[in-house]
Amino acid sequence: MIEQGIPTQLQAQLEPKKLSEDIERAKATLLKSIKRSVYVYRVDCGGCNACEIEIFSSITPVFDVERFGIKVVPTPRHADILVYTGAVTRAMRLPAMRAYEAAPDPKIIVSYGACGCTGGIFHDNYCVWGGTDKLFPVDVYIPGCPPTPAQTVYGFAMALGMLDQKQHAVNETEAEGERASLKFERIPYRLRVELEREARRLSGYRQGGDMCDAFLAALDNSETDAMKEVASLLAAQKDPRKVEVLTELKNLLESRIVGG
Ligand code: SF4
Repeated sequence: MIEQGIPTQLQAQLEPKKLSEDIERAKATLLKSIKRSVYVYRVDCGGCNACEIEIFSSITPVFDVERFGIKVVPTPRHADILVYTGAVTRAMRLPAMRAYEAAPDPKIIVSYGACGCTGGIFHDNYCVWGGTDKLFPVDVYIPGCPPTPAQTVYGFAMALGMLDQKQHAVNETEAEGERASLKFERIPYRLRVELEREARRLSGYRQGGDMCDAFLAALDNSETDAMKEVASLLAAQKDPRKVEVLTELKNLLESRIVGG
């Protein structure tokens, strides 16, 4: 079929596009372990928009796909990965192919959602061309209607070998008879909680927690005179803000000891 005024590579191709051997090889390496951040461009070919909503959820701080180095970009010219959502409609076939031609090789093509993978519920609609693989070779399919943000992150990370880069094996299995021990067991629970709350109230969750841990460790390590250990801890501080917080903890401790 010849379409007037449309470049040859964008004209209707009834046979799906074939890739050269070099590009196939480069893509296979990327898909095994990409070892870098990736730029993603999204093309909505004609879905119901629920897939888009889930993709946007994936880039919010809750799911934070950027922690894997996956960043959404506004142009296919900067993209390493093209994500196609929705069934390919006749109207969107050309823009979809234009985005494909604009992205530099070796680009990775992701078909997103049931519609992107197969045409989904719209597969037999009069204006639907089919799934993304009717236009060009697809490397990764992320199924679902729509895929949840967790499925989205997992699909990307698994497909690009990103989990191996981010996760290092740690054996968390509990050994026979093993029990997790409590920190600062010798200090009464209610006193520990009270000290920790006060420390966090004075200097925030993280810093307060760290200072309280140091304070409790000094108490826990003392064999005879706990207040002497606390005094040494205070003397070792160079930051006046820490001295102030630790002094408040010391005062609180003394009031509780005196108060019984
Ligand atoms: S896969 Fe489902 S949610 Fe996504 S575009 Fe198609 S119908 Fe909508």
